Amino acid sequence: VTSEVAIGVDIGGTKVAAGIVDSTGTVLATARRLTPAENWHAVRQTIGEAVLELIPRAHALGLDPVGVGIGAAGLVDADRSRVVFAPHLALRGEPIAEAVAKDVGIPVVIENDANAAAWAEWRFGAGQGQSRLVCVTLGTGIGGGMVDDGEVQRGQWGMAGEFGHMVFVPDGHPCECGNRGCLEQYASGNVLGRRARELIAAGAPEVAPLLKRAGGDPAALLGPLITEAAQDGDPLSIELFEQVGHWLGIGLANIAAALDPGMFVIGGGVSDAGELLLGPARRSFAQHLLGRRFRPPAQIKRVALGAAAGLIGAADLALNAPAG
Ligand SMILES: [Zn+2]
Repeated sequence: VTSEVAIGVDIGGTKVAAGIVDSTGTVLATARRLTPAENWHAVRQTIGEAVLELIPRAHALGLDPVGVGIGAAGLVDADRSRVVFAPHLALRGEPIAEAVAKDVGIPVVIENDANAAAWAEWRFGAGQGQSRLVCVTLGTGIGGGMVDDGEVQRGQWGMAGEFGHMVFVPDGHPCECGNRGCLEQYASGNVLGRRARELIAAGAPEVAPLLKRAGGDPAALLGPLITEAAQDGDPLSIELFEQVGHWLGIGLANIAAALDPGMFVIGGGVSDAGELLLGPARRSFAQHLLGRRFRPPAQIKRVALGAAAGLIGAADLALNAPAG
C-alpha cells in the first residue's frame, strides 16, 4: 500500500464511474452515477457528488487524495481544463475542471477518456513495455488514445486520436459529430442495437430471439444485452459482432498505416464480448494491413484493466500532474 492516491472519474455517454486509485494503479473504492444529459451544471454536480462520496472513504483508509483526474468521452483542450466538444455529453467548453475543483477542494485535470485508458494500460496493463501503444475504446461511440515513448500523445490542440471520427464511408450514416460515415457509425456499441432495430423494421425473422430477450421492446436492444445474447450463442448477435469486428479491423489497419504501433488495446463496453469481437477484428486487420506479408503485425489485445482502465489512467495522470 502506498500513501499517494488520487480520484479517477470516467464520464461516459451513459455512466459516471469514480474510484480512489493508488500509485500502483490499484482501485481501493468506487462510486457510480448515471451520466446526466441535461446540461453541464448537472454533469458538474454528478462528478462532485461522486468525488465527495469517495474523499471521506479515502480518509477512513488514512489516505488524502492529492487530486482528481476526469476522463471524459470528448475533445479536451490542450491545457486539460475543458471539454470543448462531446457528441455524447452535455459539455461544450465550460470550465468544468475549475468548477469541480471548487466543489471538491482539490485540484482537477481533465483528460480524454481513451487517452486515460491508453495511459493506464501502458503503465499497469496489457501495454507495459510497448514503445508505441494505441488504445481504441468501443462504447456508445469510439475513443482513441496513444502512448508514445512513455507519454500520452495529445496533439497540438489536445484532440489527437479521435479514430472513431475518421470518415470511412463518404456520405454514409450520419454521425453525432455532424459528419457522415464515421467509423463510429459502423464499429461502436450503438451500431449493434441500430442494426438489430433495422432488422426488426424489415421484418427479419432471425431477430425474434433477440427481441424476446429484450422483452419485446426494440429500444431495449442495447450493447450489453446483445453481448449477453452473443455469449449465449444467439446466431444473429454473433453475426452483429462479426460485422462490428470486421469494421474495427479495417479501422485498425488504417491506424497502423499511419502510426505503426506495436500493440492495439481494445477497451470499452463492446470489448466485453472478448473473442466474439477480437477474432473477427484480427482477421479483418490481417486482410487490410499494409505490407502484411513483409512486416510483423501489431498485436490486438483486450484491455487488461477492463472497464476501470479509464478511471485508473485519469487518476494516475492526476497523481503525476504538476501542481497548480
Ligand atoms: Zn463522427
